[in-house]
Amino acid sequence: MQAMDCDIELCGSLCCRNCPVLTENEIKDLIEDVRKEYAFELDRKRYFRRAKGEHGIYFAAKMIKGQCIFLNKEKRCRIYRCRPKLCELYPVVDVDSLDERCPQVRRLPDELVSVLKRRYMDEIDERIKQEQVFIFVKT
Ligand code: SF4
Ligand code: SF4
Repeated sequence: MQAMDCDIELCGSLCCRNCPVLTENEIKDLIEDVRKEYAFELDRKRYFRRAKGEHGIYFAAKMIKGQCIFLNKEKRCRIYRCRPKLCELYPVVDVDSLDERCPQVRRLPDELVSVLKRRYMDEIDERIKQEQVFIFVKT
């Protein structure tokens, strides 16, 4: 989520300490969106690692010093307007699960949580929803 009213001094942008995972199609769309929105060419190899799960191969944003490569010095997302779906739906982190460590959880209206959960159900790739563990691979 990382909304403008997030108190990042309090949480330290906790949501950006996990690498979001994307499918092949999603990463193509992201590269295209970032090109249009930020006039920036996202180099896949520079910013992403291949991650293997039980159901397929995906792309995970690289981590630098324990935080997402897209987080800037001010702890804000550099590609916020194009951020991956998993980031957009945070603090919903599973079909029926919220990251309770996020301070926003206590502020979000129930209706919004329901919408985010519904979107998670409908919009997150079915294979990613089933994955338990990702292993980084070279090819
Ligand atoms: S969504 Fe939660 S963890 Fe992420 S920046 Fe906002 S308050 Fe912090
Ligand atoms: S892509 Fe942006 S919102 Fe998502 S984890 Fe990285 S810095 Fe945070």
